[in-house]
Amino acid sequence: MDEKTLQKYIDAGKIASEALHYGKSLIVKGAKVIEILDAVEEKIVELGGKPAFPAQISLNEFAAHSCSDLNDETVLSDQIIKLDVGVHLDGFIADNALTVDLSGEHSDLVKASRDALNNALKIIKPGVTLGEIGGIIHDTITNYGFAPVKNLSGHGLGEYQIHVPPSVPNFDNGNENVLKEGDVIAIEPFASTGAGIVQESSPATVFTLTNDSGVRDPISRKVLIELKKNNGLPFAKRWLEKEFGSAKTNFALRMLKRANCVEEHPPLFDQNRGMVSQAEHTVIVFEKPVVTTWYEE
Ligand code: MN
Ligand code: MN
Repeated sequence: MDEKTLQKYIDAGKIASEALHYGKSLIVKGAKVIEILDAVEEKIVELGGKPAFPAQISLNEFAAHSCSDLNDETVLSDQIIKLDVGVHLDGFIADNALTVDLSGEHSDLVKASRDALNNALKIIKPGVTLGEIGGIIHDTITNYGFAPVKNLSGHGLGEYQIHVPPSVPNFDNGNENVLKEGDVIAIEPFASTGAGIVQESSPATVFTLTNDSGVRDPISRKVLIELKKNNGLPFAKRWLEKEFGSAKTNFALRMLKRANCVEEHPPLFDQNRGMVSQAEHTVIVFEKPVVTTWYEE
């Protein structure tokens, strides 16, 4: 990796971790979810970055991909709150997440995913196998008496790409492929009091543009032109609603789905409705790995 690229990853990580912890400071009982998400995304821009994906807040049994549309009235009370924030600089991405327990009853669940992440980071270097990383995550979480979420995993980060190989499992899946120097990966253990398997809910409010032909009506064309500016990174329905209004957005999304132009990322929840925590950092693999999203509290 050249110096310039490394510096972009490091700068993106600094913005991502600052925005994440700014968001954490807003997570209090009575706060509106949509206002926190808007504030986090504004903070990213203020710090000189761009959202690599819409900021997301997933509550309780929801592990990931919950994102306010413009009508969302959800207010925080005594939930378990996962905040997931991604930033890019010229396509170089940092992805990080944390969990806040406002219930006061799940501090061990929060610790389990955080410890699993920290233990995984301790063994990151060129040559470690993906299965070994998953094994550490699994053992840490099960030692707390919880289940790692097996069908969610960490991932490589590419230029303008959030999910590229390698997939970093949250249990030892026997994968003997090794990390290489210069790999950029997000590690994200999830701990659950339930099944440790998530399934899709609906409706999706986060999408990725995967194909830009097939819609002809003027509204969808206009939305499509706006979406192409995003360079293939995920977008929020809310972003479009702010620009085009809800009615036109709903219409355009329906047309774009029908023409197979967008991939949906629906909310994911634990199938036994267990409570879920998450912790995530982005790390660049070296003999001395660089955790780009590290944050000194
Ligand atoms: Mn994330
Ligand atoms: Mn991630």
